[in-house]
This record gives sequence, structure tokens and C-alpha cells, in this order.
Amino acid sequence: MRPKRIWLAVLLVGGGTLFAQLKELKPGFNFFSTQQDIQLGQEAKAQVEKTMPVIQDRRITDYLTLIGQKLAQSPHAGKWPFTFNAIYDKSINAFALPGGPMFINTATITAADNEAQLAGVMAHEMSHIVLRHGTHQASKAQFIQLPAAIAGAALGNGILGALGRLGINIGANSVLLKYSRDAEAQADYNGAEIMADVGYNPIEMARFFEKLESKGSRGEIAQFMSDHPNPGNRVKAVEEEIQYMPKKTYRDDITGKLQGIQGYVQHLKPPKNYKPPAQTQNPPPGA
Ligand SMILES: [Zn+2]
Repeated sequence: MRPKRIWLAVLLVGGGTLFAQLKELKPGFNFFSTQQDIQLGQEAKAQVEKTMPVIQDRRITDYLTLIGQKLAQSPHAGKWPFTFNAIYDKSINAFALPGGPMFINTATITAADNEAQLAGVMAHEMSHIVLRHGTHQASKAQFIQLPAAIAGAALGNGILGALGRLGINIGANSVLLKYSRDAEAQADYNGAEIMADVGYNPIEMARFFEKLESKGSRGEIAQFMSDHPNPGNRVKAVEEEIQYMPKKTYRDDITGKLQGIQGYVQHLKPPKNYKPPAQTQNPPPGA
């Protein structure tokens, strides 16, 4: 009977380990190589810099890069050439391009209650890059035409142009930037891992997203939520995940610079190519 008892003990120990383990997420199927993710992201980044009011201010870029590089040290962040820039925009949003570039609206910086919330948005966006959600979604949407288009792009003038001919761009509602609820749940999950790895309180990511869902003064919810739809009960999901993480003290603030940056952002002059949003109020009487 002795071997049987040993087997049972192994089973119990093995089962116990399995139960306490966090799942490791992997990218889904994809017609792009990781190198093509990076190339596409660089092409798209150049287009964003031409067409959107990207802030060229060392103090802000350095601050975002400080947080971003801290997050990038997590083993859940992979080895991507991340870049971190702010966009002058009064709506709360952020987006990540395939392969590494990330952009954060100034309103997102000022809306954060603490640094962990800003780091949470960044860890979430970083996870879309790591899990390659943009090119995964494009691969699913253009199943038949895509492989030939990517192959042709190697000979022609870029992947972004080739995708454009298939109707895929980086504008509003792009398949590269508007995520499924599954992708959202994954980015929350992996984002919480990244935060915990480097010491930020992971629950602050979920708290910030829930805050963005409460309606603003004009009855609108933050623009972020239309590109990143709520997969359902984000705070509870992250709370459950934290239970399986190693016990550790998390921080809401690491650099101590957020308040200074928030004040600085509010007095920043818009970049030259900034266009204020169209007025939606009624014209003043007599106008
Ligand atoms: Zn998302």
C-alpha cells in the first residue's frame, strides 16, 4: 500500500499548488509576427504625431516614461519597445498601438485620484500591447485577405497602408483600438499583475475604471469606456485575483510627483495642431 499513499500525497500537494496559481495569459492567434506588430505601431505612431496634438514637453513625457518604465520591469510586460506620450485632450482616454507606443490624454492624468490609478490605465494599455489584442482582432476580422496584404506590405510602402486598403485604420472605432469584452477582461487581469509586480495597488486600476463609468455633469461617460467596454464587475474580479498574489504591501503613490504634474498640465499651452472640440451648447441669445 505504500506507493499508493505517496501518490495521494503528491496529488494533494500538486492540487494545492495548482489552486494557488494565477493563470498566465498568452496572445491569441495572429497573422502578424511580433516584428510586424512593432513595425505597424511605428508607422501608426508617426501618423498620430502628425495628426493629433501630441505634447512635446519633457516634464510630462519624462513623468509618464518614469511610470511606464517601472511597469515595464514586470515579467508580465514582455520585451516590447514601449514609448509613453501625452495628448492634449480634455476627454478622458488613452490608447496603445501594436508593438509598444502608448498615448495618454491630459484629462486622464488630471482625473486620477492617485498615481496608482494613472499607472493602472498604463498597465491596462500595456497589456493590450503584450497580449497583442489589436493585431489579433484585425486577424480575426480580415481572416482571408490579411495574410496576402501583410506579405505585400513587406514589398510595398508599409503595413499601415496595406491595412488601409482593407479598411483597417487607426481612426475612431478601429478594429485595432476598440476592444472586445474578452480582451478587456484579459487586459485588466494582466494589468493587475503588472501593477502588483512593481508595487502599485492593483485595485486602483479597477476603481478608476468604475469611476469613469459614473456619468459626468453632461450625462456622458468617459470616452475611454467606448474603446474599453466594461467586461463586468471589474473591482470584484481584481479583488479575487489579488487573493492569489503573494502577500505584499502595495502603494497608491511611488514617485510623489503626480500632484505637481497635475497642476503643471492644467496650465499647459495646447500644441499648435490642437483643435478644440466643436461647441455643442446652444448659441448665446442674440447671436
Ligand atoms: Zn482596454
